[in-house]
Amino acid sequence: MARKLLFDLRVKAEEGAVRLYFGKTTPLFQSDPGDRDPLVIRIYRKEEPAFEFGRDYGEYFIGLDVADAELIYEGRLEAVDARMYSYTDRTVKVGGTYAYWVSGDRGDIPVGPVPVRLRDTEIWWPQAKVERYMERLAATYADQVATRSFGRTIRGRTISGLFVGNMQNCIALVGLVHAGEAGPELILPAIERLLREHADLLRHVGVAVLPSVNIDMRELQVLGEPSYLRTNYNGVDINRNFPANWETIDHSYGQDTSNPHVSTYRGEAPSTEPETQALMAFIRQTAPRGVFSFHSLASICGDTFLTSKYAAGDSEFTGKCLQLIKAYSHGFALGEAYKIQFHYGCRAGSLPHWLYAESGIPGFDLEWDRREQSKASLVDETTRQMLEEYQTRHYHGIASVLQWLHEHPAEQAAQL
Ligand SMILES: [Zn+2]
Repeated sequence: MARKLLFDLRVKAEEGAVRLYFGKTTPLFQSDPGDRDPLVIRIYRKEEPAFEFGRDYGEYFIGLDVADAELIYEGRLEAVDARMYSYTDRTVKVGGTYAYWVSGDRGDIPVGPVPVRLRDTEIWWPQAKVERYMERLAATYADQVATRSFGRTIRGRTISGLFVGNMQNCIALVGLVHAGEAGPELILPAIERLLREHADLLRHVGVAVLPSVNIDMRELQVLGEPSYLRTNYNGVDINRNFPANWETIDHSYGQDTSNPHVSTYRGEAPSTEPETQALMAFIRQTAPRGVFSFHSLASICGDTFLTSKYAAGDSEFTGKCLQLIKAYSHGFALGEAYKIQFHYGCRAGSLPHWLYAESGIPGFDLEWDRREQSKASLVDETTRQMLEEYQTRHYHGIASVLQWLHEHPAEQAAQL
């Protein structure tokens, strides 16, 4: 039979296993009072170790042949409402990428493939964990930490953050402007360690923290979307949507930012996206002396600093940037030799360019630092050990910037 008897196969990474959800088709939307002619369900799986994050996308899985897959289950499944099924596959390994198919036993064509990647939730934190972490910090350090919300994502999730320490003289840390990149996993442990080890310093200086901006799409990565996700749920690149030279079409990564079909799409107009608006509100409420926005890939970023490309040649602004960068990289290096990595790389409509154009605040996208030990993060092979090292590095980088801020109050730094 050429008909598919099953439909709407969804495959999710949940609690360390893979869960499949699918249904049985019926003619004319009939609701069947009972599953009177139950199907024997067959589930097939094929591991795809060659799938490469950042290079391969959904098309990778099109055309995979179920004949090459392994039959991992054959039998009856209890149907909910006589037609909807779920199945949990626990014989998968963290870090694996898989394709699944399901079929009945009537000679029907299998439905699939639907891909999933089972990621380590110690490396890719679910948003619920990010929120619990922030609540715990606010409860434990009530005199130093306040929680704030700045808006909602397209899908209605609250975009919240922390004000830590003395906000009169502060920097800002921003995570997950791009879903498949870095943020809460580096930022929140650094904040906790600052509160534990630098309570005194935090009486003089502060940190505004917005760990997850693009929450909607990050959750899809946590739930197993194998491909790198960048835009928000509307398909807009938040880092091209800010009202600063937004009209200028840019061609970074070989894509035209006015094209709605590319991952660097700037949106229909400046600051249309709620995530962009939340980030703007966050900055306006905190007036930071420097903004560090975490990018690169798979929860890791280094101390390569990109600021507005339009700031090249502005020596006063560059001087302000270099003061912060030198302090950050000095701490980040953990006593090893290092060199400053600073570029005028941020495009029209980006957060760093908006900061430069609107208020002259030094703002940076933090990218991969070219250190060999974190290269695997570029293909979503971040390890717990790598994450731990980068948590330590960023903690020391941030602490070093705060120390600099304390020693150079704004009025005084302006005269340097
Ligand atoms: Zn990015």
